[in-house]
Order: sequence, then C-alpha cells, then structure tokens
Amino acid sequence: MFNFDYKKSLGQNFIKDKDVIDKIVNATVFEKNNLVIEIGPGSGALTKELLKRVDYAILYEIDSRLEKILDKELASYGNYELIIGDFLDASVNDDISKYKYDNLYIVANLPYYVTTPIINKIIKDNIMAKEIIIMIQKEVADRLSARPGSKDYGQLTVLLNYYFDIEKVISVSKNSFIPKPKVDSAVIKMVRKEKNLELKDREFFEKIVRDSFKFKRKTIKNNLFNYDLNKVGNVLNKYGFDINTRSENLSYEVFVELCNELR
Ligand code: SAM
Repeated sequence: MFNFDYKKSLGQNFIKDKDVIDKIVNATVFEKNNLVIEIGPGSGALTKELLKRVDYAILYEIDSRLEKILDKELASYGNYELIIGDFLDASVNDDISKYKYDNLYIVANLPYYVTTPIINKIIKDNIMAKEIIIMIQKEVADRLSARPGSKDYGQLTVLLNYYFDIEKVISVSKNSFIPKPKVDSAVIKMVRKEKNLELKDREFFEKIVRDSFKFKRKTIKNNLFNYDLNKVGNVLNKYGFDINTRSENLSYEVFVELCNELR
C-alpha cells in the first residue's frame, strides 16, 4: 500500500478489501443534513467512500504521521475536518457544535485495544449519534449483538441495550486487513433508541448490572444476595422468571426495573 511503518500499539490494521468498505458504508442510509464522525481514518480507505456519501465528516486520527497521507489521499474532497489527536481526549461535543446538522453518525474501523473505552466515552459524553457503525473484533461483536439467553450475552450488552438496538452487519476475515491481525472482525450497527426507559439512577443501574453478572454461572439470587431479594423476586416474576434464573436470561428492561425498584 504505502511505505508505512504500521504501529501495532495503535491498532493499525488497515482495510484492503473494497467489498468490506462498501458493506460498511452501505450499512445505513445517511439521512439528510448529516454529520459523520470517523474515528481513526488511517490512510483514508474507508474515509474516501464515506466522503462520497455524506454531507460532512470530522476525522479523529491519533497518529500525526498520517496527516500528510490523508491530506494527499483526500485532496479531492472538501467536506471534512481532520483532527489529529486522541479521540479519547477530544471534546467531541464542542467539536461538533461548530456545525449545523440534523443527523449525527459515527463510523469506524476501531483499533481493538480501545474499543470499550471508545464506546464508554460515546455514552458518558452523551455524543448523540443516531447510528454507530463500527468494525470490531468478532468476539466482541458477538457479545454486543447477543440476545438474552445466548452464551455471549453479558453486562456490556445489557448496558448498551439501554441506549441502542444492536445488530451484526457482516463478519470480516482477518485476510481483509493489512497487516493481517490475529483475529477475525465483524461490523455492528448500533441504532439509538428513540426513547429510553425511565431510569432513576444511571450509576446504580450500572452497579446492579455489574453485580448481576459478577459470577456468570451463579443465579440472580446468589449474585444479588446483598439486595432486597423479595423486591428482586417480584420484578422477576413480572417477567416470568424467578430468583433462581441467571442474568444471561434477562433483557435490559428487567434490569431497568430492578434498578428503579431497589433504588
Ligand atoms: N480506518 C482505517 C481503515 O479502516 O483502513 C484505519 C483503521 S485502523 C484499525 C485504526 C486507526 O485508528 C489507526 O489509523 C490508528 O492510528 C487510529 N487510532 C488508534 N487509536 C486512536 C485513538 N485513540 N484516537 C484516534 N485514532 C486512533
């Protein structure tokens, strides 16, 4: 591709498969007056296809060596701003407030080592994206898109399900990247729910979910032994379960109600 010294420490596995790029950018219809955030444009392979479809994009790239390459690769596009720096440290809401838009999207082939911190930042900073389309490690994608009752369903799935409907778009072979990573990838699409259920206390919700999944093989009764088990039982009964069930069977709605009852 380029004479470029890829940095493993920055998760630099660039997409070389045009078919995969097309599937990512076609995973959604960018509704009009859109603004798109791309995290980690790399050498711009995905960015170019994005810029053909969207009104405007803000690109966050941590590696300053890529600035020149991106300037050259994207020279024929005028609809983007490149911010060189760590997305995790960025004041994203300030950056996007300079633009007028109706629909915000986030698209990224994410560096695996910061997938969870990036998702957490999007939620914590309340970056109000309508849809988030990200390529991540396959194993993580399976977890995030899992349904209650499946072996991959876990605490991060529940926490994210409060905000998003999550679906897997495609699986991607490790051969589609340069350099080739050790694991396969997948693209997931996270669509923000139009309305969130009322939640009395977000931190307490996170605590209940964490406690409920503390010991994966244990029942709710054992994991939540510190809480009022009568109240827990009443909520579970309402949804057709009892306290001998395991957390992996419970939808996020049950955890919201547990939070509101126990708070
Ligand atoms: N988008 C390109 C593609 O698909 O070919 C590159 C994807 S590569 C998996 C991840 C990119 O994210 C790299 O360019 C890397 O330098 C950049 N990156 C890593 N950590 C970052 C961070 N914290 N903030 C912004 N960019 C980051």
